[in-house]
Amino acid sequence: MDSCIFCKIIAGEIPSSKVYEDDKVLAFLDISQTTPGHTLVVPKEHVRNVLEMSEKTALELSSRLPKLARAVKSATNAKGLNILNNNEEVAGQSVFHAHIHLIPRYDSNDELSITFTEHEPDFDALAKLAQKIANEVTA
Ligand code: 5GP
Ligand code: ZN
Repeated sequence: MDSCIFCKIIAGEIPSSKVYEDDKVLAFLDISQTTPGHTLVVPKEHVRNVLEMSEKTALELSSRLPKLARAVKSATNAKGLNILNNNEEVAGQSVFHAHIHLIPRYDSNDELSITFTEHEPDFDALAKLAQKIANEVTA
């Protein structure tokens, strides 16, 4: 896609700090460096996000994550690492070429904050919602 910034990075038309490349996947440092070593892993195929991704591309992308996560953690001496993926604007997606964030963590109070709000479980509602989602899973 002509206007896609990550396609331009993949094509070498604009520079990036590359950390890994093979025929299907590219990984490079995120320009924002939320924490030092913040890395993006992208499929070379242009696809908007996980909601539009084929199983084949998902497999290719996800299969590289363990070795890349280990490399980022080891090179940065981080204590841990978050793996994040944003899908659509409401979820924080700002570049519409699928990508996985690898974010090294040095301290639980560092620059990344993720909070899961907990609600009292309503088990009937959970069962109904789970069934509704299960009905939507396609082969
Ligand atoms: P999103 O918000 O879509 O999940 O993440 C997009 C990420 O792409 C952001 O963290 C942003 O810093 C990064 N980004 C945007 N433009 C560029 C760029 O030109 N080069 C690099 N390396 N990262 C970029
Ligand atoms: Zn693209």
